[in-house]
Amino acid sequence: MIQDIAPHVFHNAYAQKRSIQRGDKILCFDQNQILLYKNKNGEYDFLGFDASIATGLFYYLFSVDQTAYFLLDRQYLTNKIMMKCTFLPIQIFREFSSASGFPMIIITGYHIYHWLRKNRFCGCCGHKTEYFASERAVYCPQCHNIIYPQIAPAVAVAILNGDKILLAKSAQGNFRRFSLIAGYVEVGETIEQTVHREVKEEVGLEVKNLRYFQSQPWGLTGIEMLGFFVDLAGSNKITLQKNELAEARWFSAHEIEPDLSLHSLSYTMIETFRKKYE
Ligand SMILES: [Zn+2]
Repeated sequence: MIQDIAPHVFHNAYAQKRSIQRGDKILCFDQNQILLYKNKNGEYDFLGFDASIATGLFYYLFSVDQTAYFLLDRQYLTNKIMMKCTFLPIQIFREFSSASGFPMIIITGYHIYHWLRKNRFCGCCGHKTEYFASERAVYCPQCHNIIYPQIAPAVAVAILNGDKILLAKSAQGNFRRFSLIAGYVEVGETIEQTVHREVKEEVGLEVKNLRYFQSQPWGLTGIEMLGFFVDLAGSNKITLQKNELAEARWFSAHEIEPDLSLHSLSYTMIETFRKKYE
């Protein structure tokens, strides 16, 4: 999964922030695109900091091993930088292995970029916000409102019926592969209630025996995904929520193509099922 970058170590504590120095890396986003540098071998990399680009405001993001990553607003990009870099769709992360650290760096950098972009002004009084010095937060000097990064809990549910698993295709967006039932935790709800509600809403089924599997940060949508295996309780008849799902059905392990990318928690769970029953 994207967070599995060992032997590299991801340091997300804002308290470890420091000034940018030679060898550190720069992340720059333009809506859903990321700036990448193409090296002499034609491989993409993050833009490294050196004296020739010592301009602009660098916002500390996190570190991987000893290398710190900084966010740079695109207004500071010079022609010199643009001659060796290009903006690419954020989905470029899928072309790198999780172990390389690239997907984690791109996705988590994007999460912070998107949060800062949405909070340039205070939601309470409308005043321009400032970076908070001691924590990862933005601060309103007018009304003292502090805004922390937003992380939304969500669940991914693998529904098992004996040696079969329920997989579904979304009716929305460009992502049209079969995956697990998933959804956001709603206000006033426990995680367990979310599991039951999402399954009932999307495919009309009752489930039991909730077994927590693992979690995953997924900054593209700002969520923390919690994975559960559950067993079918009662009828296996699927009633599709058509505005959410295009298709849903029961799969045997041999019907599932092995997935080697495994960036996401959902695919790790499907692969765990496939290996158990193949
Ligand atoms: Zn304010």
